Amino acid sequence: MKHGLIGLALLSLAACESANTPTLAGINAPDPVRSTVAGGSGRNLPDQVVTSGGGVPISASATFPAPSTAAANQFAVNFLNSIQARSIAERREYCGFFVVDAAGNIAATPPLPGTTASCASPAPGGNAFASYHTHGAYDRGYDNEVPSDADLLGDFQFGVDGYVSTPGGRIWHIELDDRTARQVCGRGCVYSDPGFVPEDEAGIRSSYTVDQIRARYR
Ligand SMILES: [Zn+2]
Repeated sequence: MKHGLIGLALLSLAACESANTPTLAGINAPDPVRSTVAGGSGRNLPDQVVTSGGGVPISASATFPAPSTAAANQFAVNFLNSIQARSIAERREYCGFFVVDAAGNIAATPPLPGTTASCASPAPGGNAFASYHTHGAYDRGYDNEVPSDADLLGDFQFGVDGYVSTPGGRIWHIELDDRTARQVCGRGCVYSDPGFVPEDEAGIRSSYTVDQIRARYR
């Protein structure tokens, strides 16, 4: 999601509550037992915990250990680079999740098309460790190059990390653990919009908390 800077309507987080079940690319779907326990049905809404038969709340977090940050970052850069051109040409965001299997292999769910400034994600399956989305083409009047406050809050509600690519070719890693977005790599790191217009490049920090992002909108 891109945040409008010139009075454009801020799209609601409700757009993220679509209940489509993600299909998995490259790995097997979670088995029924795991789906039940970890909330892989895709029906649980953000911020909910899934309750086991014994009434003990279980966080809907990844079933398998998350990959190393270095491995996840490298996968994110390569994958997002592979969908940048289409997202930019169609002038809309694409979104999905990165998932990990028992052997530590990373895969991406198929990219779902969004709109100019938003993309409706289903709830993540139990083996998702991060969301991903592109910001598509450069749009005047949006804070294109930095994740939005809603981007961070959506990931925190889902209980996953996040990755974002920008029209200028930046990759950001939204880290759940310390609730901070960090630039994995800067402008031109991945395919960028030929029509990209730099705006206040010197003012783009290497990391942001939600409050620091909101300060950009004032
Ligand atoms: Zn975004």
